[in-house]
Amino acid sequence: MQIANPSATKDILERFGFSFKKRFGQNFLIDENVVRKIVRLAGVSKSDGVLEIGPGIGTMTAVLADEAKNVLAVEIDKSLMDVLAYTLEEYNNVNVLNQDILRCDLEDLRDTYNDGKPFKVVANLPYYITTPIIMQLLETNAKKDKPLLESITVMVQKEVALRMQASPGTKDYGALSLAIEYYTEPELVMNVPASVFMPKPNVDSAVIRLSLRKEKIKVNDEAALFSLIRAAFANRRKTFINSVSGSGEYNKEELRAALKKTGFDENIRGEALSLQDYIALSDLLKKHS
Ligand code: SAM
Repeated sequence: MQIANPSATKDILERFGFSFKKRFGQNFLIDENVVRKIVRLAGVSKSDGVLEIGPGIGTMTAVLADEAKNVLAVEIDKSLMDVLAYTLEEYNNVNVLNQDILRCDLEDLRDTYNDGKPFKVVANLPYYITTPIIMQLLETNAKKDKPLLESITVMVQKEVALRMQASPGTKDYGALSLAIEYYTEPELVMNVPASVFMPKPNVDSAVIRLSLRKEKIKVNDEAALFSLIRAAFANRRKTFINSVSGSGEYNKEELRAALKKTGFDENIRGEALSLQDYIALSDLLKKHS
């Protein structure tokens, strides 16, 4: 069924008496070319199992079903279940679950719906929880011996995409950029104007592709690394030493010594340090604390 255009989408919404729910971040795609391009950029092929988060009325799900081996679509809104049963009727390689993705057991989903093989995640994410969803996927994946995910190709607000792949020293660089770099190799692959959504959002969007690292980046204490990063960006206007010491975990003396050992000026700001710098500092601080 061809639904990625304004009139077909309107017809389906009217047929089921559906009204958009702001609290679920519902902005549906209404441009066939954009939908096809996202699926192409995700590199989906007939050997892949796809996990789609938030299928809406099934616009991208149908294209994914054509291209992939199988699709698991997780949708929180119960009122879309009848719509999805109708729009995806012709596909026998699609499963739809009425669940909150943040409450799903991803390992169980992989084993039940994808023969234990890692999913390619493809989604036009609800903007109100983009970062929690991506971080949950990455953190859960990192904890498992057998991978849950191969890649994540998602539409997000353009501003968030820029933060995800920002380099040190830029205004977009922060804790999110470092977390994304730690787990993945990010690539902003497409800019998307607000006009291809119904209803039209106030911001432009972008598609970002996150390829999961096959080799984990080495650090002695992952939790300590992320707590150091969070502390360093807690107050962007302060120097690294002042911002981190404010968190109470390390005192100024320890921080000064660690910066000196790693060859940095004591007035350096958190935004000037790379992931490798944070790893070196975290390993050093942990050793002495
Ligand atoms: N994929 C559709 C499209 O591109 O037209 C819809 C995208 S819309 C931006 C986001 C979708 O995610 C909505 O259908 C919304 O109901 C669903 N959603 C929101 N929060 C969710 C959650 N926690 N778990 C699963 N789905 C969720």
